[in-house]
Amino acid sequence: MLVVEDLTARYGPIEALRSASLRVGAGEIVAVLGPNGAGKTTMLAAIMGLIKPVSGRVLLQGRDITRQDPERVVRLGVSLVPEHRRIFKNLTVRENLRLGAAARRGGPWDADLGGLLELFPILAERMGQLAGFLSGGEAQQLAIARALMGAPRLLLLDEPSLGLAPRLVESLFELIAGMRARGFTILLVEQNAYQALEIADRAYVLSNGRIQVEAPAEVLRDEEELMRAYVGTGGGQAAGGATAERGAGDRRAAP
Ligand code: ATP
Repeated sequence: MLVVEDLTARYGPIEALRSASLRVGAGEIVAVLGPNGAGKTTMLAAIMGLIKPVSGRVLLQGRDITRQDPERVVRLGVSLVPEHRRIFKNLTVRENLRLGAAARRGGPWDADLGGLLELFPILAERMGQLAGFLSGGEAQQLAIARALMGAPRLLLLDEPSLGLAPRLVESLFELIAGMRARGFTILLVEQNAYQALEIADRAYVLSNGRIQVEAPAEVLRDEEELMRAYVGTGGGQAAGGATAERGAGDRRAAP
């Protein structure tokens, strides 16, 4: 579905991505893990065409989309759920979803809405409510549902668990796993490494703009030292099963 080859991106003198490569197969959930400032958002921005990499390539189903305008990348089938959600708080849930369908080709905007809302039953109950009144977890669901309204081939999720209570993080990750069961392809950027590895097929560890490790998620789950060194959190065993204690407080722990 997606191939990123040797991508280098800069903000003036700051090299935020350094020859970073990754790939996402159709139907996979691939996680990019890394601490604050590792270059995760920059990776997504470069894929979307929001920033123009200085070198390297981005291929979507074999088609070179490097440095395309974001509007075109969206029309080619890539949707981004940005960090902090960025839903329209003064619009209703329904209006937010309708805006998400703007990039759809053909058919009424709400053709697939019924099927989509099976994944997001809470939104079905809140269609007429202003999005500003949603809880954090509901707002994140709306941001994801809005992105899916464009019927993307590839969904990019930027730190979807950010700011959510541990219990909500758990159900959000279950939801994302459910999306894979429905055939969606997902590139998931997360600091919340432990839970991302629970649902991902494969993962990359990004640090200082470089991909340091690529491995199946189940392998990385057991690499406690490595995960602690790069991401600031251990794998499943290091958590001792105490998911509830892995709250927002230690999300920002630097290596
Ligand atoms: P976070 O979890 O904080 O979003 P991240 O892994 O997504 O971290 P990026 O946001 O991609 O990291 O940032 C990578 C590097 O680029 C950091 O050093 C950051 O300070 C720098 N950077 C990001 N955006 C800009 C910008 N608009 N201008 C200048 N430097 C930037």
